[in-house]
Amino acid sequence: MATLEQVRAALAEVMDPELGRSIVDLGMVHDLALEDGRVTFTMALTTIQCPLRAQMQDDARARVLALEGIHDVDITLREMTAEEKQAISGQPTDQPHASQFNLIKQIIAVVSGKGGVGKSTTSALLALSLRRMGYEVGLLDADITGPSIPKMLLKNPPHPRGGPLGILPVTSGAGIKVMSINLLLEDPNQAVIWRGPLISGAIKQFYEDVHWGILDYLIVDLPPGTSDASLTVMQSIPLSGIVMVTTPQSLAGMVVRKASSMAAQLEIPILGLIENMSYAICPHCGETFEVFGPSNAEELAASLGAPLLGRLPIRPELATLADHGELETFAADDFDPIAEKLAALTNEGPAE
Ligand code: ADP
Repeated sequence: MATLEQVRAALAEVMDPELGRSIVDLGMVHDLALEDGRVTFTMALTTIQCPLRAQMQDDARARVLALEGIHDVDITLREMTAEEKQAISGQPTDQPHASQFNLIKQIIAVVSGKGGVGKSTTSALLALSLRRMGYEVGLLDADITGPSIPKMLLKNPPHPRGGPLGILPVTSGAGIKVMSINLLLEDPNQAVIWRGPLISGAIKQFYEDVHWGILDYLIVDLPPGTSDASLTVMQSIPLSGIVMVTTPQSLAGMVVRKASSMAAQLEIPILGLIENMSYAICPHCGETFEVFGPSNAEELAASLGAPLLGRLPIRPELATLADHGELETFAADDFDPIAEKLAALTNEGPAE
C-alpha cells in the first residue's frame, strides 16, 4: 500500500505545462489525504479557467492511480488566492489583462457551417495575404478541439513564452503572430477533449491574456458550425465582422445560412463570403471544371446580403504545403484579390 509521501512524490512529477514547474513546487496541491486507498486533495489553479487544468488533473490522477493500493482519486479545484498567485509570480496580482495593452484595429472571425470546407486554410491564407500587403497580422486559432493553424504555418514551433504583460504569441516566418492551444500542449498530437465551458474559457484567454501588441488585423479561426465556442467568440471578442467560407455544395450553403443567422442575432456584420474548392484547373490544358457542381456563391452571398469576396480553386499544392508547415511559401496569387477586397472594406492602411 502506497504511503502519503509516495503520493506526494508522484504528484511532484506532474508539471504545470505553462509554467514548466511541478504542481507541488508551485504550491498548487493542498489538503492531501489518503484513506483506505482513496486519495483526496485540492488543486489550486492560477486561474479557474486555466485551459490546461484537465490535462494536469488527468496526469495527476493517472500517476496516483499507478501507485500500489490506490483505487480512487478525488480532486477538488479552486482558484489560488491573491497571495498564492503573488508567491508564484513574484508580481502583484491585480494586474490588468494583456488585452488592455493591445491595440487591434480589426478583428475578423472566419466561420464555416461545417468542417472540412477549408476554413482554417482560408484563415491562414487571409492572414498571409494581409501580411504580404504590409499589415501587422495576428492569427488566433479558436478551433480548440481541431487546431490546425500551427501545423500549417510553423515547423517545430516553440512554446509561447510569458512576457511582462501576458502570453507572447509565436511569430511565423512571414511575421504573423500565432496563438493556438496546440502551441501550449506538450504533445501537439494530443487530443483536446474538453466540454464547452472549458473551450470557451480558453478562447477568452487567448484574446484577453495574450499580448498581441499593435495589430491591423487579428484573424480568428473559429470552430466549424454554431457551437458554444463560436458563440463565445461572437459574444466576448469585439469582432469587426465575420467572413464566411463555403464550398459549392448546397448543403454547405444551408449551414452557412445557419451561422449567418447566429451572427445576425448577435448583430455582427458579415463582411463577405469566400467560396473554397470552387473549381479545379486541369494541369495539362488549363481548362477549369466545377468538381462539386456549379457555383452558387453569387446567390448565397446575395441571400446573406454580403459581397462575394472571391472563389478559390482546388490547388493540390495547398494541401501538401499545409501538411508540411510550409503554407507561407504558397504564392497565394488566387488569394491576394480576396484579401485586398477585405482590406478595402475594413481598413484605411497599414499601421505606422
Ligand atoms: P476546415 O478548417 O474547414 O476544417 P481545412 O482548412 O483544415 O478545413 O481544410 C481541409 C483540408 O482541405 C485540408 O487538408 C486542406 O489542406 C485542404 N484544402 C483546403 N482548401 C483547399 C484548396 N483550395 N485546394 C486544395 N486543398 C484544400
